Amino acid sequence: MKPMNKNTKNSCINDFDPSALDEVTAVKQILKSIAKIKESETINIMDSLGRVSSKNIKSSIDIPSFRNSAMDGYAVNIKNLEKNEYTLVEQGISLAGQPYIKKLKNQGTVRVMTGAVIPDNSDAVIMKEMTDLKDNMISFPKLMQKNQNIRNIGEDIKKGATVIKKGRQINYVDLGILSSLGIAKIDVVRKPVVSFFSTGDELVSINKKLKKGQIYDSNRYLLFGLLNELPVQIKDMGVVKDDERILVKKLQECSKISDIVITTGGVSVGDADYIKSALKVVGKVNFWKIAIKPGRPLAYGKINNASFFGLPGNPVSAAVTFQIFIIPAIRRMLQMTTSSKLTLNAIVKSNLSKKKGRVEYKRGLLEQKDGVYIVNTTGLQGSNILSSLSKANCYIRLSSETNNINKGDIVEVIPFNINL
Ligand code: AMP
Ligand code: MG
Repeated sequence: MKPMNKNTKNSCINDFDPSALDEVTAVKQILKSIAKIKESETINIMDSLGRVSSKNIKSSIDIPSFRNSAMDGYAVNIKNLEKNEYTLVEQGISLAGQPYIKKLKNQGTVRVMTGAVIPDNSDAVIMKEMTDLKDNMISFPKLMQKNQNIRNIGEDIKKGATVIKKGRQINYVDLGILSSLGIAKIDVVRKPVVSFFSTGDELVSINKKLKKGQIYDSNRYLLFGLLNELPVQIKDMGVVKDDERILVKKLQECSKISDIVITTGGVSVGDADYIKSALKVVGKVNFWKIAIKPGRPLAYGKINNASFFGLPGNPVSAAVTFQIFIIPAIRRMLQMTTSSKLTLNAIVKSNLSKKKGRVEYKRGLLEQKDGVYIVNTTGLQGSNILSSLSKANCYIRLSSETNNINKGDIVEVIPFNINL
């Protein structure tokens, strides 16, 4: 086993805490207490990317709505072709948007472009490249199949089919589908309002000079980045000092304008940690410790109608707890459809230290070599080490029952950008 680095050793979240709630129970409790947003709004589809549909959307037309060609070529009737020894006369041209609407004559063929209407009595389209044109006579190959290169009515989307389900987050394909159906506006769930602020006497704005002992407030930017990926209205409420009275006021103010209030820092048991006591004054503390690393001190509660998340101050803890607890809460609020989490099994390249009794998320770099997934940690794993999160493309999730992991063991890996 690798010796633990100094960072990990000194961490306040290193020791087993029997009073901490397990991760799964914590998520369940959060989801149970989240109120779903009932309001919706009608918006242009161009503004709907990332938003959540509040209704099932059905198609009022067939796609395609007419039989058309999948190729540039000639529309034929196979029986007529056989009768005419595979040579026909061009009787007309059908272009996309400029249909030729007459039927095929006994000896005729129609030159058709991709997407063009084909004659009603045609039953195959032959690619242009497979034909020979001589003196207005077109000769065709003998081998062909009925319906080849023909796009049938409704083969993509049938009239009346549900194309978007309630709870779906609109993506680029949906924009393509909605527009192909002529739908200009859709109903989406109102964006939840999420306000957040940082707490800590040591925090300084990024445009100021640092004095000894001060640090730049990075969590607010990190949270802003995380929230930006979600269909929420973001309210940046700044920085608040470690002062219970001011915290109480700020929490109250935030709760009045938000569905979710998030803070970072001041949630542990240090001399300047006032979040829990402030929460008690303005609202209700549901729980405040979870058996995970990083991120054990996490206060969850209610202030008026808003859900409150007091995240730890260490940046990696703040990011991980946001992903594990806040993203599912926001999804529930928006009534988003849930998909089962995709995880991979990978062979770990080095020994990992792990204590039983809590879930641990390590920052990992996942690679694929000869079809096998291999993962390594990305450096120091202290909850203050943001650079190792920056190098990571996955979390290695070690379950509560797991002890130390040996090099070569199989571990569960959650790749970024797959589940979230
Ligand atoms: P706390 O949870 O307040 O005890 O803070 C834990 C650690 O996170 C301390 O080292 C803090 O200085 C640091 N920290 C707290 N808030 C922030 C922030 N907004 N940006 C960067 N680091 C922070
Ligand atoms: Mg603090």
